[in-house]
Amino acid sequence: MEKKNTWETYDEKQLKELEKLSKEYMEFLDNGKTERECIDTIVNTIEKAGYVELNKAIAEGKKLKKGDKVYAVWMNKSIAMYQIGSKKMVEGMNILGAHIDSPRLDVKQNPLYEDTGFAYLDTHYYGGVKKYQWVALPLALHGVVVKKDGTTVEINVGEAEDDPVFFISDLLIHLSAEQLEKKAAKVIEGEALDLIVGNKPLLIKADEAEGEGKKEKAKEAVKTGVLNILKETYDIEEEDFLSAELEVVPAGKAREAGFDRSMILAYGQDDRVCAFTSLKAMLDTKKTDRTMCCILVDKEEIGSVGATGMQSKFFENSVAELMNLMGEYSELNVRRCLANSCMLSSDVSAGFDPSYASCFEKKNAAILGGGMVFNKFTGARGKSGSNDANAEYMAHIRGIFAEKGINFQTAELGKVDVGGGGTIAYILALYGMNVIDSGVAVLNMHAPWEATNKADIYETYRGYKAFVEGASL
Ligand code: MN
Ligand code: MN
Repeated sequence: MEKKNTWETYDEKQLKELEKLSKEYMEFLDNGKTERECIDTIVNTIEKAGYVELNKAIAEGKKLKKGDKVYAVWMNKSIAMYQIGSKKMVEGMNILGAHIDSPRLDVKQNPLYEDTGFAYLDTHYYGGVKKYQWVALPLALHGVVVKKDGTTVEINVGEAEDDPVFFISDLLIHLSAEQLEKKAAKVIEGEALDLIVGNKPLLIKADEAEGEGKKEKAKEAVKTGVLNILKETYDIEEEDFLSAELEVVPAGKAREAGFDRSMILAYGQDDRVCAFTSLKAMLDTKKTDRTMCCILVDKEEIGSVGATGMQSKFFENSVAELMNLMGEYSELNVRRCLANSCMLSSDVSAGFDPSYASCFEKKNAAILGGGMVFNKFTGARGKSGSNDANAEYMAHIRGIFAEKGINFQTAELGKVDVGGGGTIAYILALYGMNVIDSGVAVLNMHAPWEATNKADIYETYRGYKAFVEGASL
């Protein structure tokens, strides 16, 4: 039961492939720091690979057949892609699933205010964050503002080298004696996560009638100055924040980490590392017996809720539409297709951290460099909230991986009773299909900068490919 270090198993050719994949992955991360940006990147990529929008196929009354590739996007935040296999859909699909939302700070609906010379945007954090990690570092603003007339303005500030960045202040150490006595959960409170976006008053010309011609300050001059810039740059008003989705994320690109460049340090690797590898595996797999499917969804970090989360009927509806275009539709056939499917529900796993060893049980922890991770179950307090994969299914996958020489490890999120977490696995399992959690080990998960090992990313890509090609339980 000893774990192999995956790096030791590669030949020159594989190492080259690994580096190429890592580079592509880092670009994927840089281009997609929000769900919407990820969807844009993914749609651009898959359309070049011959994928056609499902709605377009429906509108044209197209009949679909084996080898055809289609995709359905929901509200610009979730996507389901299909590559039709040679077997009938009712026999089930091989599904890869991951999420493309990541923890961050969302701008509130009435966010802009001024206090003592600073203009602020008030935020509400999204997902599980250690709030103290989000102060005193450069932050970028990504998202959309949708105006009353329906026009969408895209915002992306803080990534280009000459862009300004934003930040949340922290109290200077010299005055922090009392603050440092507080529990870490209270050191920085949620309501204190207000983004500084300006510090210069707008000067306007005094009324000509008063004759002086000298400049005076506008009312709330710093806030007004910021609003003026927003008006000039994006043609938006303060009221337009009401219908905006703006996400505050760490500014900057994904970086290689370590003298040996073995790791990647970047924002949003939970769960874009699994989204990217799933997408790549899907694109690089040509023909399969069973239909291949890849679902990349929103809202996992807050419980898979809403129209774009995994609990939405969006996915099931797209399967029904697809089967209809294949001439295989009936309500019973849709149910059979889903029940007969196999899924790798992919999400990051907690990498064993030697600095915090007491929170892990080492022989059942995911080691960075140890290969693709399987979590037979997740959950907390006695597996509560988990999808516990069937032993027969785990055996089937072990068989495929042994045959293809994929290095994998099994893990739990941490020591029993130390904590826990959930994924989208249990939602798909409701159809009666075989689902297991799998993915990549991450260090400092949910922090502004998360770390992964390049070998794990490459091995996970290989593992997903082996799965879509071979699973058929
Ligand atoms: Mn996740
Ligand atoms: Mn997460």
